[in-house]
Amino acid sequence: MSKHKLFTIILLILASLLMIQLLNDGELNSNTSQKIADYSILLESNSLVESKFITDPYREGLAVGAAFALAITLFFFYLAHSSKVTLLLSSYFFIRALLLALLLNISFTRGLPFYLFTKVNVSFLLVAADMFLFWFTYVLFDTNKLVPKLSKSLKIFAFSFLVYLPISLLLEIKISLYLGLFTHLAANVFLLILGFFLVKKSERLAVLFITFIFIQFIFSIVNSVSLIWLNINIFAESPYLYSISFWLSGFFTIFILSRGYYYQIKDKQFAQQQVLESTLISQKAQEELLVLQEEDQEQLESRVQERTLELNIALQELEHVNKELAEKNTLDELTGLYNRRHYDQKMIAEHRRSRRNLTPLSLVMIDIDHFKSVNDSHGHLAGDQCLVWLATKIKACLGRSTDIGCRYGGEEFCLILPETDTAGAMALAEELRLSVCAQAVQFQDLNIELTISCGVSTYQQEADALPEHLFSAADKALYMAKDNGRNQVQQQPLTEILSFQGIINE
Ligand code: GH3
Ligand code: MG
Ligand code: MG
Repeated sequence: MSKHKLFTIILLILASLLMIQLLNDGELNSNTSQKIADYSILLESNSLVESKFITDPYREGLAVGAAFALAITLFFFYLAHSSKVTLLLSSYFFIRALLLALLLNISFTRGLPFYLFTKVNVSFLLVAADMFLFWFTYVLFDTNKLVPKLSKSLKIFAFSFLVYLPISLLLEIKISLYLGLFTHLAANVFLLILGFFLVKKSERLAVLFITFIFIQFIFSIVNSVSLIWLNINIFAESPYLYSISFWLSGFFTIFILSRGYYYQIKDKQFAQQQVLESTLISQKAQEELLVLQEEDQEQLESRVQERTLELNIALQELEHVNKELAEKNTLDELTGLYNRRHYDQKMIAEHRRSRRNLTPLSLVMIDIDHFKSVNDSHGHLAGDQCLVWLATKIKACLGRSTDIGCRYGGEEFCLILPETDTAGAMALAEELRLSVCAQAVQFQDLNIELTISCGVSTYQQEADALPEHLFSAADKALYMAKDNGRNQVQQQPLTEILSFQGIINE
């Protein structure tokens, strides 16, 4: 069983007992001469003060009934909302209603099974009410968090009240009365201090709370002073004063409670609003992030594309430059014809192709006649000019794209003629020789006449014939041309060279 339920049941039992008592007292109270409340007995017996209050049962009934109604209303609120603060406030007013009843000489302790209950007096109820008030303050303000040090004292106070209550029943009535009044005063002072600290912590309900405690404090001062120094029990003299104090505290505490609820609702709404706003903000931020990410992705992709394009262009340029470089490596700088290195590579490649395709491959060796004397008589620049001139002639006479013209070295040139037989090669060489001797080389104001000697040889799938054999044969033919008087074309069959070198036997 939960604490709240247990508490509720106890309160209900107490309330029903009280009702029974009130009904009994109704009869007794009609007789105003009978002062039966312990408090009144005490006052009379001690001759402290004689109550001059003339009881009016209807008014009394109304006042006490209204006070209990307040406590009960709060209790029903508690049942509806199960808020601990409301239950504590309900208990507080329940005790204060009992106090009012006691002051109005309505005894609710008489006839109870235990003797001690009959000793319940004003001071007992004051301390009991203070205990609930402390408890109420503790829960309402959550003092543990706001003012931890004072909160500890608050708890100690409330606990000592609880311990004091049963003890007070055993004390002499006069002592318990003074002790109770003093405790009540001290409790009010403590709550005032606590209130100031709460104001300092800018607790919203603290100002209302201080006002409420201050009013109570004034009433208790008036009560204590009048009782101790003037021997007048003000509350007993005038229960109206107590009623005013009661309804003022009632008004303030309920007001505090309602403000508390109001702030709770406001805080909740505010928190909800904040959550909503932050959700919206985070949603917006997420959307922006998404857009940024998309933009980034697009930018990245376009950059990658750009870079790829640039890279491709660079690669193409590199390829082009490499090609140019490779070509340059294969060209002779002076004449622009292919160089010796290219000749060597091409010769091997064309020899293989010829062997594979069973096609003839001719080689023409060209040497300028008496070229040394050209250099000697006109200078090397003139000689160079002659070499360039001859190169253009060679280029011009090479009709097929597959024909290759090379500068073999010095003033010697060679033509690789794929798919060309000896007759064709001889004809081409002859054509070149004629074109050379038909025209003089122009150098400055000189006309240099040149003649060339050519040696031709053809590879026609002779067994074991290598490129160098073909070269030897062409070279031999060239020497033959030289020996025969120069300015002519001679040919040398490859087989002769091969048999001469012992490669084949005729
Ligand atoms: P021939 O071939 O008719 O027997 O007589 P030649 O004078 O041409 O004889 P040789 O082949 O011995 O002479 C080659 C000469 O070619 C030597 C050199 O003066 C010349 N020569 C070689 N290379 C170059 C060159 O790059 N530039 C110039 N200007 N002359 C060169
Ligand atoms: Mg030579
Ligand atoms: Mg020569």
